[in-house]
Amino acid sequence: MGRDDAELRKILGTKVSQERVERLRSLGIKFDQPDLTREAEDYLFRKFAEEVDIQYARFQAGIKFTEAEVDELLDGAIDIHAHGGSENFERLLLEDELATDYTQLGLRAVVIKTWWTPSVSHLPLARKLLHAWCEKHGKQPIQLFGGITLNTSVGGLNPLAVKRCLGFEGMKYIWMPMVDSYWHRRVVHDDWSEGPWLRIVDEKTHKVLPPLQEVLRVAAANDLVVACGHYPWKPDAYELMAEAKRLGVRRLEMVHPTHIHSKLTIEDMKEAAREGIKLMLMGLGSCTYPFHENGPIYSVRMLKEVGPQHLVYGSDLGQIHNPSHAVVSRWFVKLLLAYGATKDEIRIAFKDTPAKHLGI
Ligand SMILES: [Zn+2]
Repeated sequence: MGRDDAELRKILGTKVSQERVERLRSLGIKFDQPDLTREAEDYLFRKFAEEVDIQYARFQAGIKFTEAEVDELLDGAIDIHAHGGSENFERLLLEDELATDYTQLGLRAVVIKTWWTPSVSHLPLARKLLHAWCEKHGKQPIQLFGGITLNTSVGGLNPLAVKRCLGFEGMKYIWMPMVDSYWHRRVVHDDWSEGPWLRIVDEKTHKVLPPLQEVLRVAAANDLVVACGHYPWKPDAYELMAEAKRLGVRRLEMVHPTHIHSKLTIEDMKEAAREGIKLMLMGLGSCTYPFHENGPIYSVRMLKEVGPQHLVYGSDLGQIHNPSHAVVSRWFVKLLLAYGATKDEIRIAFKDTPAKHLGI
């Protein structure tokens, strides 16, 4: 992109001054929120101005990419966090459909994640269907990986449940509790009851709970990825990651660090990266609910400030109300290019870092 790229960086760096905010206010633009404070209104003006700066100025800066370049960036890409498949609620696609879509798009591998049952146990059937499809259409099948999510349905922090998954081909991930995490219950449902909701560290000492230490030993012995769930960075996730490292786990990941229930700041992400932890670059937030720290501008900031060598692409798609994994993956690449990411940065976060992370 050369000169265009330099120009884009300048645009992305644009700060909206308070004077410009006042000028926007003087135009009489109104927001549909009757109880808006002046500070909140300032914030909205500033965010809208940043958006239009990029939205309009980027065309003037001459951002260009072709469909063939997008194809090239997706060819051999890896999605380390794809929902969908067999759940007891409706998903957009089943495992084989998602795998077929991604095979057509030219991806190299996908990690399928389900909430309640070990996703890795769904892979033999998905693989059989995928391979039959590929034979018929003369395509090279995408590699399928899965794992187990330690929600209440598998007994929570249950080392035996993890061990029972070890024989499956493509067993790669142990995800910490997500929808059954006490933190998820608080943040998402405003449910502050202790209930059966799961903690990963002791409430008082912040030490990783003993059954989870056993899970981490299994992960270390089998070279699995330990990915966090819906927990705060500190103390919970931080203590988990430190203990995992101490016990010999080599593949560590923070899932969707821009999501409110598992949120890290850019500084936190840099700290995690220094510890060798990979951070997920999420398609879902950037494309389907691009609020401030979920949106594509923030994803580009992550690429520039945290660095693509620490980021792994995860679509997080599969919801019935959203476009498919393949559609969003393509869309996300285009958004990243349009908002100032370089092709190299995208290539590293979509191909190189995930491949190293999975050990493939
Ligand atoms: Zn997810």
